[in-house]
Amino acid sequence: TYDLTGKRIWVAGHRGMVGGAVVRRLASEGCEVITAGRDVVDLVDQRAVHDWMAATRPDAIVLAAAKVGGIQANSTRPVDFLYDNLMIEANILHAAHEQDVERMLFLGSSCIYPKLAPQPIPEDSLLTGPLEPTNEWYAIAKIAGIKLTQAYRTQYGRDWISAMPTNLYGPGDNYDLNSSHVLPALLRKFHEAKMAGAKEVVVWGSGTPLREFLHCDDLADALVFLLRGYSGYEHVNVGSGSEVTIRALAETIAKVVGYDAELTFDATKPDGTPRKLMDSGRLHAMGWNKVRPLEDGIADAYVEFLGRGQA
Ligand code: GDP
Repeated sequence: TYDLTGKRIWVAGHRGMVGGAVVRRLASEGCEVITAGRDVVDLVDQRAVHDWMAATRPDAIVLAAAKVGGIQANSTRPVDFLYDNLMIEANILHAAHEQDVERMLFLGSSCIYPKLAPQPIPEDSLLTGPLEPTNEWYAIAKIAGIKLTQAYRTQYGRDWISAMPTNLYGPGDNYDLNSSHVLPALLRKFHEAKMAGAKEVVVWGSGTPLREFLHCDDLADALVFLLRGYSGYEHVNVGSGSEVTIRALAETIAKVVGYDAELTFDATKPDGTPRKLMDSGRLHAMGWNKVRPLEDGIADAYVEFLGRGQA
């Protein structure tokens, strides 16, 4: 196992939902957490990353920095998603190798898997079929990142690993209705319906698709678990292991917000894939299983959402 006590750990991407959660989680580990904003080091710039890493010399890195966005952003700005993400991961891994960084935890996402992967999706379905075309730019970059992590392990014996989180939610999430995912979107819609005393809330699609959700702080706990104890070549899925229908999600959110609006299903909006569940059996078999109930997690997200309004 890798003892985190006294280690200097760089969390790259600390302003994002995942990076922020990892910073919070590491606060209780007796390590020194290092962060650096875009003004300090531009991760797309190889020279800047090299110089900053040579001056900082972290012991370990959690690589949660990435250019992220929804369907719209991905399809209109493919270069940003492919080039920026390739550069960020290549720059960081290369500089980390030069500086002898002991541990690297590279983060991907569930969209790396083939569009028609078996459900639940096992780790070894990677590269077995075509990707979902709408986010292939991002997915190709993330797959390259997993492979580069593995390449450093193979060629130089680096004890570096990768983890693939499922759909995440929680503090720091995106609540913009045009670009957000379903959970923050419905949380916002229910809250606004409550404020306005509206009778109905519009839910896109049929309400029957199944999705898996994980609170970002549960992810961060799993990542610390992996950083400490996992040392394998293959990437590890990180999910809750349970799925809900979109209708059931809406009903849970209604309960958390405390507003019993009528659900209206907008059939003009797409359902997307009928089911998206990761197989997190490997992680759970390693002994990590600290997933909070969905209702508790949503209640926590709602507190943070309300706090934003007052800021
Ligand atoms: P996906 O998991 O990649 O399909 O992305 P989303 O989180 O955006 O959507 C998941 C499911 O929730 C789809 O079936 C959507 O149609 C449905 N959904 C219902 N209401 C909403 C909403 O207000 N916003 C979004 N983004 N999805 C919604």
